Amino acid sequence: MQMETKEIRIGFYVCHCGSNIASMVDCPEVARFAEKLPHVALSRDYKYMCSDPGQELIQRDIKEHHLNRIVVASCSPLLHEHTFRTAVEKGGLNPFLFHMVNIREHDSWVHTDRQEATAKAKALSRAAIRRVVHHKVLETKQVPIHPEVLVLGGGIAGIHAAMTLANAGKKVFLVEREATIGGHMARFDKTFPTLDCAACILTPKMSAVGAHPNITLWSYSEVTKVDGFVGNYQVTVKRKPRYINEELCVGCMECIKTCVYKEPKFADEFNEGLGKRKPIYVPFPQATPQVVLIDPETCLNLKTGKCKKTCVEACADRQAIDFTQKEEFKEIKVGTIIVATGFKPFDAERVPQYGYGIHKNVYTALEVERLVNASGPTGGEVIMRDGRKPESVGIIHCVGSRDAKTNRWCSRVCCMYSLKLAHLIKEHTGAEIYNFYIDMRTPGKGYDEFYEKLLDEGVHFIRGRVGEVTDWAYTKEEEGKLVLRVEDTLAGFVRRIPVDMVVLATGLEPQADAQNVRRMLNMSCGTEGFFLERHPKLAPVSTFTEGVFIAGCCQGPRDIPDTVAQAGAAAAEVLALIDKGHVDLEPNTAYVREEDCSGCKSCIPLCPYTAIAFIDASSKAAINEALCKGCGTCVAACPSGSIVQNLFEDEEIFNEIEGVLAYD
Ligand SMILES: Cc1cc2nc3c(=O)[nH]c(=O)nc-3n(C[C@H](O)[C@H](O)[C@H](O)COP(=O)(O)OP(=O)(O)OC[C@H]3O[C@@H](n4cnc5c(N)ncnc54)[C@H](O)[C@@H]3O)c2cc1C
Repeated sequence: MQMETKEIRIGFYVCHCGSNIASMVDCPEVARFAEKLPHVALSRDYKYMCSDPGQELIQRDIKEHHLNRIVVASCSPLLHEHTFRTAVEKGGLNPFLFHMVNIREHDSWVHTDRQEATAKAKALSRAAIRRVVHHKVLETKQVPIHPEVLVLGGGIAGIHAAMTLANAGKKVFLVEREATIGGHMARFDKTFPTLDCAACILTPKMSAVGAHPNITLWSYSEVTKVDGFVGNYQVTVKRKPRYINEELCVGCMECIKTCVYKEPKFADEFNEGLGKRKPIYVPFPQATPQVVLIDPETCLNLKTGKCKKTCVEACADRQAIDFTQKEEFKEIKVGTIIVATGFKPFDAERVPQYGYGIHKNVYTALEVERLVNASGPTGGEVIMRDGRKPESVGIIHCVGSRDAKTNRWCSRVCCMYSLKLAHLIKEHTGAEIYNFYIDMRTPGKGYDEFYEKLLDEGVHFIRGRVGEVTDWAYTKEEEGKLVLRVEDTLAGFVRRIPVDMVVLATGLEPQADAQNVRRMLNMSCGTEGFFLERHPKLAPVSTFTEGVFIAGCCQGPRDIPDTVAQAGAAAAEVLALIDKGHVDLEPNTAYVREEDCSGCKSCIPLCPYTAIAFIDASSKAAINEALCKGCGTCVAACPSGSIVQNLFEDEEIFNEIEGVLAYD
């Protein structure tokens, strides 16, 4: 442990950050000002403190000038606090005898008067210099990391992350709330821009997940509770009853064939309600796991108890059907978690002017994905609800996207999947296709070329947001048709386009239960409700909860290539943590000064991380350092002032405040 010397010798460095700081703050002047402050043994300004030479400068100075405190005035600690702490440590000093002051985001970037910005930089630097005098030697603690991983959500993101980890020899629990993995991709026929068959690329990966010895797949399951901290999470998983013993079912489907409902009768969720299924079913032929399930809402036996139970007879030799099955709770321990819970499509009924649910030949894009699919409800024929094949189709882009009344964000994939559906509908029906778009957004490998291909195929593109879809005919040509009224912003007039079928390119939204998942894992969400990454550029798959990573559309709309890339990145982050074997815990945690604690327990319910316990033997509160995130809530609330937080002790904070307010 670093011993503190009596004489405090501070090294002060002010960074120009190229011209980011220097254009608004007179850095040499700040350095000259700091030089005269008490305890400052050395003061310098330098072009890029975060560069290798900048860091080496600090290390050299520590040795040559016997410095025992360092202050760097530069950018946000979020970016470079770790860089400078490491440099200080390499120089032979305890890394917590360092303080960083932000004169970029807090100063040069937000001010326009150079003189005032320089004065503010001086005040902030003086505050940091006064504060660092009171810094103490602290040690980071290490806790071992559990090598098992939880992957939440079995869409393409969860599947790819789970397979990457499992292939690297790590044990993975993959928890999917639906009866099968595959997510939205499992519903598509083809994928843009290559038009390769979605099932051909996805289902081998799904089977590989189901068969992988390192993956425990729990479908039809939900995570209900997560306790613990990075490296040591205790997770409770609820396994919903599917009334089938998964170990015994071989997916022969005999039970489905013999069900008392001779014909499928109930809306089939996998086909977006366009087809029918029986009460006992598999979601789709390549479902993984290949295990039947019984829907308690529609099964005659589960609803009334009055059924011949022909399914049980059909399964007599395996006895996989179990009507007594109840929900089951499993407890697992994992070190890291990847959240890959995907998106929810925008509800088209929220835009009533487009007539979804009113006019029967208005469809959502996902419904059309099922119609053009050979394994869909119509065997790949594009047959409308009124039994006709469309001769003309209007595809409306940006439904529930880029719209102040619904969602402001661009859903990123709708232009491309609209092009894909235009191509597929034309291929299946030969219909005239009209795309109504605000802007065509096709950034991606081969995406713009795909757009050009569609132009060559004779698909029409009309620039303008459709005002409404009606069935009022003004002319003979419009009779029996759906009419789209749109201001064509390129031609400069309002048009009425009659079509047989309308497809709504609905946007992507956060999952309905995203807030629950966020709370359970102590994550953050952006304003639109998608999970928030730690840093959009430097830590795009990390979250603000250590050991919890995000991948795919749960972080924001994106296509499959980007989703897979992100899932691979999340898996790599997890592998890096596991292979390190331990995690370093920041010492900015709170602790209880036992002699002052009155044992009032008021801190215990306030802690958002359940890090505080009451010790009966001593009648005092105690803080679990591994769970404490250093939020300071307990420190502020403790009536006897007995809770103290490392790096935020009273004398550090009061001296910092005095430093900002001082007048010299
Ligand atoms: C109509 C349409 C067509 C598209 N076509 C293409 C295309 O051709 N090419 C392309 O690149 N992209 C396409 N996309 C985008 C593509 O769908 C996404 O990139 C992809 O599905 C993202 O995968 P994901 O795993 O992140 O999410 P999802 O596919 O949404 O999977 C998430 C999974 O997590 C599960 N889950 C959710 N919450 C929980 C929970 N709390 N607990 C457990 N499990 C949970 C869900 O049940 C689901 O299985 C299209 C999108 C749409 C809407």
